[in-house]
Amino acid sequence: MEKPMLVAGNWKMNGLKAALVEVEAIARAADSAPSRVEVAIAPPFTLLALARGAAAGTRLQLGGQDCHANPSGAHTGCIAAPMLADLGCDFVIVGHSERRTDNGETDAVVKLKATAAIVAGLRAIICVGETEAERDAARHLDVVAAQIDGSLPDADPASVVIAYEPVWAIGTGRTPLAGDVDEMHNAIRARLVARYGEDGRRILILYGGSVKPSNAAELFAVPEVGGALVGGASLKAADFLPIIAAA
Ligand code: PEP
Repeated sequence: MEKPMLVAGNWKMNGLKAALVEVEAIARAADSAPSRVEVAIAPPFTLLALARGAAAGTRLQLGGQDCHANPSGAHTGCIAAPMLADLGCDFVIVGHSERRTDNGETDAVVKLKATAAIVAGLRAIICVGETEAERDAARHLDVVAAQIDGSLPDADPASVVIAYEPVWAIGTGRTPLAGDVDEMHNAIRARLVARYGEDGRRILILYGGSVKPSNAAELFAVPEVGGALVGGASLKAADFLPIIAAA
């Protein structure tokens, strides 16, 4: 495979200081990867500064799993995009389905967060994806199109990455057929081109949802798949490194 790829890990609410050995191993793999393959992880906020130190001088990119839409203010417990940038982060994930479900985040909120991330100089990995009921009702293409339309910032697509994550595939061990991923990624690409013109062709579209060493190569072979957002299999270098190698 010769296309540009981004393999990003989402550690969710996992990871104590002992996990820094995994960061160091992933950072070594990031340095060994071909230059067209970018490697990134989003550890919990509590580990970001330590992870930045552990990955210092390497090509491993670091990011947050969420940010607030405002750059500062009276929002107890929240983290602003400029704080992540100040820490040396490269990106932030916004609109993950767990945040859309657990925190009631709408497309409009996700758009504000993505915009805040880009204003702060970060890349925004914007997550979209349908539920199982929506796929069963053959509404998946319409649902994701609406999420794309509502969640993406109006300007600067250069800092936008999309992660297509079917909700029913996250943490379940189930993945769509390669043909279904192909259909959805083509539909997302068409939407991006309609929205941003030729710039929309350069936006990476990651696949996420139960990516593991055994299925990564098949998913990466889908033409419009530009990498992966990996949850559970990014926590241990032993699982994550073969996925990076498959890119
Ligand atoms: C995710 O949460 O972004 C994800 C893709 O999780 P998993 O790989 O564990 O399905």
